[in-house]
Amino acid sequence: MKIHEYQGKELLKKFGVTVPRGIPCFSVDEAVKAAETLGGKVWVVKAQIHAGGRGKGGGVKVAKSMDEVKAYAGQILGMQLVTHQTGPAGQKVRRLLVEEGADIKKEYYVAALTDRATQKVAMMASSEGGMDIEEVAHKTPEKIIKVFVDPATGLTDAQAKELADGIGVPAGSQAQAIDTLKKLYTCYMETDASLAEINPMILEGNGNIKALDAKFNFDSNALYRHPEIIAYRDLDEEDADEIEASKYDLAYISLDGNIGCLVNGAGLAMATMDTIKLFGAEPANFLDVGGGATTEKVTEAFKIMLKNPKVKGILVNIFGGIMKCDTIAEGVVAAAKETHLSVPLVVRMKGTNEDLGKKILKESGLPIISADSMAEAATKIVAAVK
Ligand code: GDP
Ligand code: MN
Repeated sequence: MKIHEYQGKELLKKFGVTVPRGIPCFSVDEAVKAAETLGGKVWVVKAQIHAGGRGKGGGVKVAKSMDEVKAYAGQILGMQLVTHQTGPAGQKVRRLLVEEGADIKKEYYVAALTDRATQKVAMMASSEGGMDIEEVAHKTPEKIIKVFVDPATGLTDAQAKELADGIGVPAGSQAQAIDTLKKLYTCYMETDASLAEINPMILEGNGNIKALDAKFNFDSNALYRHPEIIAYRDLDEEDADEIEASKYDLAYISLDGNIGCLVNGAGLAMATMDTIKLFGAEPANFLDVGGGATTEKVTEAFKIMLKNPKVKGILVNIFGGIMKCDTIAEGVVAAAKETHLSVPLVVRMKGTNEDLGKKILKESGLPIISADSMAEAATKIVAAVK
């Protein structure tokens, strides 16, 4: 799960990281009031969407008067903000963060993330802050410094110093940088984040270190123990089909291809997507209907897949274990009828009551293409959509 920058800064602040004073706003009036409340002479008006690269896309503006605050808030609120992370359609801006302006002397990048290869927490830092870190990693990988933290020990002073030295934090600000890194690590661990990124972490003219941006990803399997983070959820930023699917307890992820997949079991669902790719096409989604798929659930799954205009065919791949093939077959027939299915449908069924399931499909009178092996199913659906 992702959250907004202003929420991320609230979390960082809770863990003792210094952040600029700022106020989230939902209207131009609120933005002007926020700037008045903050006082000072320079404010930053920032679009709040769950994607980075807002600065380059025109979603971060420095205002030097109340008129500018008003003008920028008006421009940014409601705009369709396109960044390298939103895709070409962009994301509509519904919230703003108005902050006091910062006196930036230098921008750094710091982040904590899960490193599967070492089974440790990677703490990353770079002197090239404020930029797209993927670009830095690609062009100047030597400018990214990493230390791997054993979760049993935590980030040591020596490791934090290695990072601060490595990115060139001046001597007078080292203690603050080390302190910020350690707090970032604690925040990452205690919130069950999978990514906690500050880009940029800045050195101010007066030598202070501050977090000017905050980006978090959380492990959704751990959200049950963080009601305060669930409360940050913003459904406007999430895929509408994925939200709909979660209501029916369907594990659904939108993808870019044109073959809808309905499968039971996450492993089989992934193998099905791989097989589709192997036979030269692309899956439109990942969909695991789970072990207890009812007719209602299968119908909802069909509806969600068919809402996607890119879907040109559907592949159902079911292994009947506890879930019997005839139950799924009845669900598929009912769903195909209810949704007036007009795209080719290939069904592969194996396991408990396989013959009964196949009979139900055959006697339904629907133009369902049946297949026995994974390869046959993939070949048939790929041919049908071409
Ligand atoms: P992102 O583009 O989505 O990562 O948004 P950021 O919050 O990182 O902002 C992008 C850039 O805007 C930063 O790298 C800074 O250079 C600039 N910026 C953000 N806040 C301030 C500020 O308070 N003062 C000034 N002068 N620049 C800022
Ligand atoms: Mn940033």
